[in-house]
Amino acid sequence: MKQTLPITTRENNFFINDVWIEGGDRERFERVSPGHGVVVSSVTLCGLADVDLAVSAARQAFETIWAETPGAARSRILIRAANGIRDRLDEMAYWETLETGKPISQAKAEIDAAADHYEAAAGMARMVSGETYNTYGESMIGLVTKQPIGVVGLITPWNFPFIVLAERLPFILAAGCTVVLKPSEMTSTTSLIFADILNKAGLPKGVYNVVTGSGPVVGEAMSNHPDIDMISFTGSTAVGERVLEASKSNLKKVGLELGGKNPQVIFADANLEDAVDGVAFGMCFNAGQCCVSGSRLIIEASIAEDFKAKLIEKLSKVKIGDPLDPDTQMGAIVTPKHCKKILGYIEKGKSEGATLDSGGETMSPSGGEFIVPTVFSGVTPKMTIARDEIFGPVVSVMTFETVEEAISMALDTEYGLAASVWSKNIDKALGVIRKMRAGRCWVNTTIIGGPEQPMGGFKRSGTGRECGMMGVEEYMETKSIHIVLGDREHWIS
Ligand code: NAD
Repeated sequence: MKQTLPITTRENNFFINDVWIEGGDRERFERVSPGHGVVVSSVTLCGLADVDLAVSAARQAFETIWAETPGAARSRILIRAANGIRDRLDEMAYWETLETGKPISQAKAEIDAAADHYEAAAGMARMVSGETYNTYGESMIGLVTKQPIGVVGLITPWNFPFIVLAERLPFILAAGCTVVLKPSEMTSTTSLIFADILNKAGLPKGVYNVVTGSGPVVGEAMSNHPDIDMISFTGSTAVGERVLEASKSNLKKVGLELGGKNPQVIFADANLEDAVDGVAFGMCFNAGQCCVSGSRLIIEASIAEDFKAKLIEKLSKVKIGDPLDPDTQMGAIVTPKHCKKILGYIEKGKSEGATLDSGGETMSPSGGEFIVPTVFSGVTPKMTIARDEIFGPVVSVMTFETVEEAISMALDTEYGLAASVWSKNIDKALGVIRKMRAGRCWVNTTIIGGPEQPMGGFKRSGTGRECGMMGVEEYMETKSIHIVLGDREHWIS
């Protein structure tokens, strides 16, 4: 059954040291639902003093309790957090849909997948280990231990508010770090609801703090804060560069998960029906506002026309509509400003000589702004639409004759986030995947995964890895210990 819009605006407080703090005379940011064009929620625009307060709560919790909490105890809290997420799945999906414009069915799947991440990380919390060196002879033994890095500042984007948080937070908590989170000001509600879930799960006070507000104020203050040990930033490459610059204040460690311009390479020997479906999904998922969106279609020339026709036919069947409708497959564009930016790219594509084969226009089925899936062909690798991250449901079709040409076109980007290859010839498919310089690769599928495997970017798509055991170790320091056995051989006799 379709849910209705909230009767009143949800006014969120922020959360430090287990205390909900009211905005008082601070300014507020009002969020307009992208799918409906009406205000649904608001957050406090916090200031520098709020960041300081949150950092000192996180520091205190790190020093006094969380760093020394046994893995088994951390694990139990993460399991209870996963249960808490599932108990409130419908409520969280509702707010995720209202604030992002994504379809409610997708939001529910993401919240459920988020719970999965907390369960996976719960196991990892008990399994962190180091190394031993028993190779020095009888008078020395070596140990390598891992310990939590400290206070982590977490800055998240608007497009996948809760699942992006879940790809980082449970691993950070499993490592024994404490957190100051700044969610996107547009989509903070689920991160705030989660404070309540974590509190009920028994997370000690000060371990998870949420400071709402703008990037240039709160995000910048976190990035250059002298008492934050590491920043984990997920967002655009341009802002990631600013974060890196600001982090120099105390040479804090920085993890960056940034943008992408991801190739989908389709060979003539692929299962074309599967590939068409995967490509349609890869470009329309989250209305193309997805870091791993398959936005560059590199097709073997002999099948290009047939493939394009099948794709356009498939795209005509995508159910675009009210994000709250359970049947909707593709929702709205995040803001009118971003919609204008995407339309600007579509104009640029036309003016640079690409052929607009389908889409290119907006629609408004439920009050907000939506863009019809758009296919350009005759795209050359130097065109703007082949190079920039458009962050909308727009795909650029290019063609190739040889495997070498396909590889070189796929690699012709400053980004290195993801790549998909479609071919039933395993030698060819894996041969091409081996050459990709991208952190997340798929063969005969796209945009799937789980908490077990690491994710991250090559080149200008970022540094560091999230998820999996690597995603726990990312938030840990490594210590080498040498232990002498027996009496010391004296330097001064
Ligand atoms: P964005 O860069 O505009 O904002 C991301 C976050 O940074 C927000 O919380 C924002 O408030 C904050 N911010 C803005 N200015 C800041 C500053 N000066 N200092 C510190 N923080 C600041 O990105 P967005 O529009 O929210 O998200 C879309 C981008 O995120 C796309 O480029 C997408 O590819 C990328 N993304 C990457 C991944 C990944 O895992 N690689 C996942 C999701 C999104």
